[in-house]
Amino acid sequence: MTPSDQRKPIRRIVIAGGGTAGWMVASGLAKSLGKQYEIRLVESEEIGTVGVGEATIPTLHFMHEILDLDEKEFMQATQATFKLGISFENWRNVNENYFHSFGRTGKGHWTAGFQHFWLEGRKRGLASDYGDYCLELRAALDNRFARLPDNGINYAYHFDATLYGQYLRRFSEALGVQRIEGKIAKVHTDAASGDITGLQLGSGELLEGELFIDCTGMRSLLLGETLGVKYESWAHWLPCDSAVAAQTTLTRDAVPYTRSIAHPWGWQWQIPLQHRVGNGLVFSSKHLGDEEAKAALLANVQGEVIRPPRVIKFTPGQRELVWKNNCIAIGLSSGFLEPLESTSIHLIQKGMTRLIELFPSDGICQSDIDEYNQQARDAIENIRDFVILHYHVTNRTDSQFWRDCREMAVPEHLRHRIQQFRDTARVVIGAGELFAENSWIQVMMGQGILPAAHHPITRQMEDRKLAEFLGEIRKDVARNLMRLPKHQAYINDFCPAQ
Ligand code: FAD
Repeated sequence: MTPSDQRKPIRRIVIAGGGTAGWMVASGLAKSLGKQYEIRLVESEEIGTVGVGEATIPTLHFMHEILDLDEKEFMQATQATFKLGISFENWRNVNENYFHSFGRTGKGHWTAGFQHFWLEGRKRGLASDYGDYCLELRAALDNRFARLPDNGINYAYHFDATLYGQYLRRFSEALGVQRIEGKIAKVHTDAASGDITGLQLGSGELLEGELFIDCTGMRSLLLGETLGVKYESWAHWLPCDSAVAAQTTLTRDAVPYTRSIAHPWGWQWQIPLQHRVGNGLVFSSKHLGDEEAKAALLANVQGEVIRPPRVIKFTPGQRELVWKNNCIAIGLSSGFLEPLESTSIHLIQKGMTRLIELFPSDGICQSDIDEYNQQARDAIENIRDFVILHYHVTNRTDSQFWRDCREMAVPEHLRHRIQQFRDTARVVIGAGELFAENSWIQVMMGQGILPAAHHPITRQMEDRKLAEFLGEIRKDVARNLMRLPKHQAYINDFCPAQ
């Protein structure tokens, strides 16, 4: 019998796991549908959470809009700072840096994006650095920030992952979500349909429901272990399989960006919060041992170590299905892409909003399951290709790790996109892709691609016109930049320490 034949009405939703994923899903469901369904969440303090995941992208604003959260309250509760993008250091080559900002760069024309005009200007000696035409990028590098009206500045946050979970827990419980402390000892299934019927805790308590959300982290206790959905590994494209994370004290004002610093066997993150810094190394275990990784991390952090380094192992990839029968995996239980572009929390949010959009009204049907699985696959594959780009397009040849990355075969769609940009400066973004044209351009040029040609429309402009066009944008950016206060001063003013 297929799930569509059963069409069991849903009354009780059980969320297994209370990490960032569990509490994001709980709060979204409670806010949107909580009056109609009983929502329970079980988590185990003894098992704990992964405890990392502190850099976000601007899509998080939508999550907070859905929940109707107060920004100041959220920032105070989670010790958050503002984030305008990521500084990629040593990625193109040792001692060469670039910036992936959340902003728009310049202004384009319906025929061709701004990069074509910039490339023409560069050829005629009329253009300065590509980044000079982007407010977010200039502000980040000058350590400035302010929220501007009409979305005048595009930003995200860094926050303390544990505090964020606690904040969303308070929010969810206030809306009626019931939290149960305990370890899931057994998952009961119906022999005929294969559906999950209940989670039995170590205490003997049985949590029954009609819909189960698996947020149990990398173990994937419900979808993976119980329903047997296999994991598809992308290790052949993404060479890192380990991370070591540590927390340190602040030594200077928080900058409004994440630092991503490449090393001969992976890369290092630095995430500044109001009360501390999150640090970590993402590395390939083929090229670096765990103890060496801990030592390398500690040799490259400032401040005193608050939480000593701990190693986390992972396989990049995704479950073949993320929704099977009456179980949906959201968060690490569904798959994992390393945090190079801070996308996992976004994928949790998408998993939650997609579930609400496709929420079974009169029971689960296979057409919704198929739709959900297809959308989830498209979303993560697009991001996967963007992450692979950073490793593959590089001039670094100083270690076997980088030589392997340069030489590997990449997914066909990514290969085409890189080649098209090299040949024509064009990037054609498909519907539903997370990263827009400007993100791809910043990373492709940042990693060292300079297109061989650009659109002929740009040659319609005489020197004077093109210089004026580029100059106006640059001046506008510079004018707005000078109006922005320093990032730390803005935080002190916007959400003073309580
Ligand atoms: P977890 O945090 O592992 O939570 C699992 C939950 O399940 C816990 O509550 C646990 O107690 C519970 N549980 C498990 N088994 C049982 C059981 N038997 N009984 C009861 N409860 C159980 N994402 C970003 O967006 N930005 C980043 O900068 C970023 N950095 C990262 C860095 C690293 C090194 C890693 C590994 C991940 C990073 N991520 C990042 C991803 C991010 O951390 C996760 O997506 C996020 O924390 C969600 O985790 P989770 O809730 O799925 O799993």
